[in-house]
Amino acid sequence: MSTKTKHILDILEAGTHPDAHLSMHQNVLIVDDVSFNLTFLETVLEQDGVHILKASSGEEAITTLQHNEVSLIIMDVMMPGLSGYQTASIIRSNEKTKYIPIIFVTAADRNDCSFEGYQSGAVDILYKPVAPEILRSKVNIFLELDKQRQLIKQQSEALKSALEQLQHYAQHDQLTGLFNRDQIYRILEKLIAGSARNRTVMALLFLDLDHFKHINDSLGHDVGDQLLKSVAKRICSVLRESDFVARLGGDEFAVILNNLESRNAAGLVAQKIIDQLVVPHVLTEHEILVSCSIGIAFYDENYENSSDMLKAADSAMYQAKRKGRSQYAFYSADLEEQAIRRLELARALNEAIDKNELSIYYQPQLNTKDGRIVGLEALMRWQLNGEWIGPYEFIPIAEESGLIPKLGEWMLVNSCKQIKAWQDAGVFAANVRVAVNISNRQLQAGNFLDILQRALTQSGITPKCLELELTESAVMHDPDNTISLFNEIHKMGIDIAVDDFGTGYSSLSYLRKLPIDTLKIDRSFVQDIDVDANDEAIVNAIIGLAHHLGLQVVAEGVETEKQRKHLLSQGCDILQGYLFSRPLPAEQVPALAQSLNPPTKN
Ligand code: C2E
Ligand code: CA
Ligand code: CA
Repeated sequence: MSTKTKHILDILEAGTHPDAHLSMHQNVLIVDDVSFNLTFLETVLEQDGVHILKASSGEEAITTLQHNEVSLIIMDVMMPGLSGYQTASIIRSNEKTKYIPIIFVTAADRNDCSFEGYQSGAVDILYKPVAPEILRSKVNIFLELDKQRQLIKQQSEALKSALEQLQHYAQHDQLTGLFNRDQIYRILEKLIAGSARNRTVMALLFLDLDHFKHINDSLGHDVGDQLLKSVAKRICSVLRESDFVARLGGDEFAVILNNLESRNAAGLVAQKIIDQLVVPHVLTEHEILVSCSIGIAFYDENYENSSDMLKAADSAMYQAKRKGRSQYAFYSADLEEQAIRRLELARALNEAIDKNELSIYYQPQLNTKDGRIVGLEALMRWQLNGEWIGPYEFIPIAEESGLIPKLGEWMLVNSCKQIKAWQDAGVFAANVRVAVNISNRQLQAGNFLDILQRALTQSGITPKCLELELTESAVMHDPDNTISLFNEIHKMGIDIAVDDFGTGYSSLSYLRKLPIDTLKIDRSFVQDIDVDANDEAIVNAIIGLAHHLGLQVVAEGVETEKQRKHLLSQGCDILQGYLFSRPLPAEQVPALAQSLNPPTKN
């Protein structure tokens, strides 16, 4: 049984237990100005263990009622001061006492006062002299009725509280106490209706923690839960009273910002949440760092219902993740189109090899000393129904959709075969090599070494003629793991280049430990050598560093003579860029080789 079911059953049990009434304490108030009468009534009723309260006037009776719970009143009619009837009227007009049954005791004739007695609120009238048996029997009946009434009251209170609990459970997330998915949908639905009328800005934030799964897997669900609670608190701390926040499930949260002054304000709140969350979370045994990505959708007439709006915010959240996490992004319909295009491209890319849509272009890398081609970078090209799709668009899609190992293997095998064919045909000397880009996902796929071996075997090239280009961020992502893999690759005789160097965060100690051969200075630094003194300094420093570590330096993206000269003056080893050649389809490479590598005398 879940704890919440048990809780509700406990509440109901307490209210409806058959013994619940045993603890009831019932008072009978007797009111008479003659003390003998009071004693008489008391003596009779005490036989049944009834608890008696006494009052010798109407006024005293009313005071007693104010301070005690009374189940039944037995009252004399004729009293100095307030008469019995007058007292009864006052009792009836009071909220607290109006339902207490009153039995009148009167010495009057049976026929002349009964009507007035009942009118003033009597439930029964006893005539003096009162027969003790009749009195006891009537009192017992009324007390029993009172017990039943109290029991019903208790039960209905228990039911009410159980229902309230149920309602709370139905609307809230148990872990964080925030609203749950269903409830935020309902709230959103109501606000959408209101927002359409008010013309105020309403924003929906869709928030997802970055890499939460990793925390859950490595530190356990308890820590994960503690973190989610802490996140919930932090989110709430930046919101206003009029905002709503829910946990949608897992590590997803939604925030509704209501009545905003402007759209900009939503971005400010999102940034505040991001800033709040990155402050380390101190949990019982751990201090944890998390970040989140937030997608923002604004209410406008385009949304038919709450789930449309939530979808829009969700898709903006993915955009924020793609931008690099710990960011927020606004939803736009363009973005939706992009998402659809990505899905379609992923589907098409899956069939691209079989449909012969992929090809490889080659861009030469030149030795600075003599200007001869020493290598070629292999770059993937994709033509889909006559349209060229750029690698900057399809490579990330291939990575996200898990297609990169398959495409990468195709690249490796075919570029190795191509360089071998050129070597065999005398287009290039036997030491000219091919550089193939390897995505981190491909590297981590588990069977990467087997694939490398297969590419070597199938093509028959010497391992020295293959160089792998890995981006700096991929290499530094998990350097301890990478070292052993790189050692294996090196043992096979294959060279490794660190691509896009300068754009990531390299640790110098790792650079020293990693078995690498080449640093490729990122295009962005090369491009601005002429204009930006900082970039010039960076390029010079990278060349110096590389040489110090015994590594070769390649500068990519060389477009101008000025850049070439500068790189030359700094001692850069190899140049690559449009200045020499754009990447070319395989069939155009022999002619290029002819012009750049004229046959030497030896
Ligand atoms: P990258 O590895 O940095 O490749 C160099 C990119 O710079 C190529 O873009 C190339 O065409 C371009 N480039 C070369 N010289 C110049 C120049 O002088 N000026 C300018 N502006 N650009 C120049 P491309 O072919 O569009 O490839 C883009 C990126 O796609 C590559 O960047 C690489 O990260 C990725 N990529 C391409 N093919 C593959 C592949 O087979 N596998 C993997 N994993 N990634 C690939
Ligand atoms: Ca590259
Ligand atoms: Ca590069």
